[in-house]
Amino acid sequence: MKYEPVIGLEIHVQLGTRTKMFCGCELTFGEPPNTRTCPVCLGLPGALPVVNARAIHFGLMTGMAMGSELAPRSVFHRKNYFYPDLPKGYQISQYDEPLCLGGRLGDVRIHRVHLEEDAAKLVHVGASGRIHSSSSSVVDFNRGGTPLAEIVTEPDLRSGEQAREWLTLLRTTLRQLGVSDVNMEEGSLRCDANISVRPEGTTELGTKTELKNMNSFRFLERGIRAEVARQIELLESGGEVVQETLHYDPRSERITSMRSKEEAHDYRYFPEPDLVPVRIEQAMLDEARGAMPELPADRAARLEREHGLSEASAKQLAFRAELGDFFEAALGSDGDVPAQPLAHWVTGELVARIGDSDPGDSRVEPVALAALVGMVERKEVNQGGARQALDCLVADGGEPRAIVEAQGLGAIGGEDELSGVIDAALAANADAAAKIQGGNEKPMGAILGYVMRETKGRADGGEVTRLVREKLGV
Ligand code: ADP
Ligand code: MG
Ligand code: ZN
Repeated sequence: MKYEPVIGLEIHVQLGTRTKMFCGCELTFGEPPNTRTCPVCLGLPGALPVVNARAIHFGLMTGMAMGSELAPRSVFHRKNYFYPDLPKGYQISQYDEPLCLGGRLGDVRIHRVHLEEDAAKLVHVGASGRIHSSSSSVVDFNRGGTPLAEIVTEPDLRSGEQAREWLTLLRTTLRQLGVSDVNMEEGSLRCDANISVRPEGTTELGTKTELKNMNSFRFLERGIRAEVARQIELLESGGEVVQETLHYDPRSERITSMRSKEEAHDYRYFPEPDLVPVRIEQAMLDEARGAMPELPADRAARLEREHGLSEASAKQLAFRAELGDFFEAALGSDGDVPAQPLAHWVTGELVARIGDSDPGDSRVEPVALAALVGMVERKEVNQGGARQALDCLVADGGEPRAIVEAQGLGAIGGEDELSGVIDAALAANADAAAKIQGGNEKPMGAILGYVMRETKGRADGGEVTRLVREKLGV
């Protein structure tokens, strides 16, 4: 039997407000421990929370970006549980009346978006006071009370790879909105994956497990893949998936249980009596609407429409905004360069050389890449030569025409230049020439290889093939 994976994500995003969710403590990163605290975020008796208006504003923008229904009234609840990083014994979160309901981002439906406060941070220290894996734990309350948006998707994802791609789209969207710096390594973007499998062709959902706190895009993809494989293996050997919370260790690639359904929390949600419900007024909606930038999905549609790019290219550029920015800068710098080949050079050859880093930080100027692609289009340099020139641009910057000339990478395309070499190639490969003449094109590779060797790869392959046929009269 074949199985289909079903995946839904729960994402926590730290909002980039100046102050915390319910108090005036400043949000800063890397301050000495417990220097950004007050009675409210320390949970001292009698302290009263006040909702951060900017967090609501960011929440509304996030909802608008996904086409969610924005609740005219939303309510904060106490979510009760005990943990040393939670001094009040409860987290203020939202329950049945969240800020945003429904919506969609890319191919994935959004279930809801709600606001809550982050817990403090536990730090494990050894006897010497140095950070260590055992001994004792201390708490840094600087992070406690940081505003979070929790985004919950519908179970619409079907693979680890798709989950990773979609999370990239979400990150770009949130970054464009300016609501968060969405940095997975620093913990401002955290993701739990809910995973089940079902027989292909069926619609009923299988029992799910929850992989907690994936802290990189790569681990998210790998963790999901490992958990899907574990569940399928379990089912195939006659077992059953048990609903539980799991931990994936990227180093050992092992999955271990954190708690099962029987030990699941009962949070005893009840309305936070110290906060009135939030009523969303027209002025708040107008302000959020007015602050909306162009979003990746819209940008992809615009790139397709304005420049005739393929859907795949448009998405690759728009979903990594820095690639889109580079592409648009290159296109704008040169009125003649054709858009689709340029897009391919950005998402293909350039990305292959700079990886995940921002091309804007590389030595390649947008105008230089546009010029190089223009030279390829005019057959002044062939693909191989252009790739070498790009290597130089990435390493040292500079101007492609000068590089091509200095290194002799220019294409040899004209009949005058190629004729002699092709004659020599035909003479040296008389068998091949005879076969081609007899209608068998397979040995064309041998002729091409000879010409490429002689011209150090600078000949235009299409032109060589054409001239060979012409000379042999086929
Ligand atoms: P819980 O009550 O356990 O938190 P929810 O129904 O609130 O479960 O869903 C939490 C997340 O799990 C959502 O992202 C949802 O899409 C996803 N999810 C729910 N059921 C399944 C399932 N059977 N398989 C995969 N994901 C699921
Ligand atoms: Mg949940
Ligand atoms: Zn505080």
